[in-house]
Amino acid sequence: MYSCYSCGKTYSILEPRWRCDCGGFLTLPENVTFPRETFANRGYSIWRYRESYYLPSHAPSISLGEGWTPIVTQRIDGMEVRFKLDYLLPSGSFKDRGASVLVSLCKALGIEELVEDSSGNAGAAMAAYCAVAGIKCRIFAPAYTPDGKLIQTRLYGALVVKVPGTRQDTNDAVLQAAATTYYGSHLWNPFFVQGHMSVAFELWEQLRGEVPQSLVLPLGSGGYLEGIYRGFRTLQLSGLVRTIPRLIGVQAHNCRPLYEAFQLGLDGAAPVEIQSTLAEGIAVSRPPRASAVLEAVRRSGGTILSVSEDSIRASHALLLRYGFYTEPTSAAALAGWLQLPHSERENAVILLTGHGLKESEKIARIHGL
Ligand SMILES: [Zn+2]
Repeated sequence: MYSCYSCGKTYSILEPRWRCDCGGFLTLPENVTFPRETFANRGYSIWRYRESYYLPSHAPSISLGEGWTPIVTQRIDGMEVRFKLDYLLPSGSFKDRGASVLVSLCKALGIEELVEDSSGNAGAAMAAYCAVAGIKCRIFAPAYTPDGKLIQTRLYGALVVKVPGTRQDTNDAVLQAAATTYYGSHLWNPFFVQGHMSVAFELWEQLRGEVPQSLVLPLGSGGYLEGIYRGFRTLQLSGLVRTIPRLIGVQAHNCRPLYEAFQLGLDGAAPVEIQSTLAEGIAVSRPPRASAVLEAVRRSGGTILSVSEDSIRASHALLLRYGFYTEPTSAAALAGWLQLPHSERENAVILLTGHGLKESEKIARIHGL
């Protein structure tokens, strides 16, 4: 059952729906099913934990083997820190976790065509999994989006619709299209969020039950953070961990509606002026699930940080020195970690979220090549 975060109205998950009639976003129950007894004999992908995602039981697993990304320890600024390389997923970003689960739901509901709006990693991930599932996919993006970022999406077979005007115009266009087809939105859909629970489950297995003091991650729409919180909450409700890591979301100074909201104690995104940022992947000015994201940060005892363009650039250079070829957005997480007081840096895991090979030209420019 879905329930609306705003008004509490419930709907069947067998209904092709992406938000409440009141306009609120939908949530799924906190899940206490963690299939510890059954998964030992399963392969190492997010589907090892399929009972935890609350999918209809007849849903197929639309999979490209995503999940179980490596954890690598490095010594930075005199302190050991672990990186989880979540850019090493089939389409080159963490969004494959969410796309795999959402597209599996769509397949179970018999959806033959969907629309989505994204100019980056989410569009590519949805296009990849729709290709596997045999679902027609239309991705809406602002006309000003550079072609380079959309090539991967097109090559998977998705139709890219470029909309003149602002990001808001693209949003309006996709909602119009959604009136007659399914809106497979990575920003709205709670099943996309469910896919990210797998990060918590993998960490629990990979670190043999140890809970890091904190997880530091780039923060845009917040679906990644919300999902990871839900994953640890599942482990806690199952009695497998006592505590949840502090979730530390990092926004770019140039686009920080969740940072402002957290500072002001609001329970929804703050209206902010936005400027362009190197961390394009987290430049989300109006994240629709903001209330749930802020609640997850607060309940975990975590915080939201804001980092400058200079610190993103410097942290990206540092990642390269350690051999991590990520997109600049991922560097925001390291910049955030470096901003923490020393005592709060200990026993942290930094999540690296997007592959650099998608943005080599931009990366070359950033570093003056
Ligand atoms: Zn509602």
